[in-house]
Amino acid sequence: MEVAETIQSIRSLIKVARDSGKNIGLVPTMGALHIGHISLIEAARKKCDYVVVSIFVNPTQFVPGEDFDKYPRPFEADLDICQKAGVDAVFAPAPEQMYPAENITWVNVEKLTEPLCGQFRPGHFRGVTTVCTKLFNIVAPDIAFFGQKDAQQAIVIRRMVADLNMPLEIVICPTVREQNGLAVSSRNKYLTEQQKKDAANIYKSLQKCHQMIDAGVKNTSEIIAEMSKILQQIPSIEIEYINIVDAETLRNIDHIVGRVLTAVAVRIGPARLIDNILVDAAE
Ligand code: AMP
Repeated sequence: MEVAETIQSIRSLIKVARDSGKNIGLVPTMGALHIGHISLIEAARKKCDYVVVSIFVNPTQFVPGEDFDKYPRPFEADLDICQKAGVDAVFAPAPEQMYPAENITWVNVEKLTEPLCGQFRPGHFRGVTTVCTKLFNIVAPDIAFFGQKDAQQAIVIRRMVADLNMPLEIVICPTVREQNGLAVSSRNKYLTEQQKKDAANIYKSLQKCHQMIDAGVKNTSEIIAEMSKILQQIPSIEIEYINIVDAETLRNIDHIVGRVLTAVAVRIGPARLIDNILVDAAE
């Protein structure tokens, strides 16, 4: 496995791979790798001959006051995980590689970035779409792999790629969960064991939503009220949002039809946690 810290060095590695006829897969991450990231690497290995994992805690997607400084950066452990997972190259640039000067050029996806996390993290998605554009330009992957765990991010990236005719495919992989249902996340490291147990209620609330839709409930306020009850069983929880939206447009809906995305964001102790499910409602 190669480790590249500069744009020039990752480009040289990729040129060699491409010249020998290999197709390139990219798994963009912020490091602190876990089984969720490994599932993306495995998906990439199935579809691609040469797998690149980028590890970059992107400053432009953190809103002032968020956890940029204390975000975990266990670099050696991450390299070990990548090596064992069969990654061909890790791209781990320093912030000055990615942003050598004040950044004054941005990629901005409208509308889809406004609801859900967009309301609470102003500028977050602009940072995500800008860094992904930079990574796509640097690595030039045939396929990039993202997690359903960050559903809004995946939808926004897919739309950006379509709207800007970027020559790559976006693959979205299922959310990997702990045994108790908690979506695996680098930010779970901020939780105590008790808080991790409590946080299982996030997935319980999503399952409740699924059950209610399957049982034919159409009124979204009714479902959200039930979900809210389950979440409020967590001591010290702060609910940021519980939204049921159209899975394509991300617009709020009052009445369930077709494919819906139910998304939750909460704060438990020091961690902001998000999770979601996609549900296809019967006609
Ligand atoms: P992050 O390092 O948190 O920016 O995540 C990098 C990629 O891994 C993103 O595409 C995430 O959606 C994905 N990811 C994070 N957690 C999970 C998970 N539990 N299951 C599947 N994908 C995940």
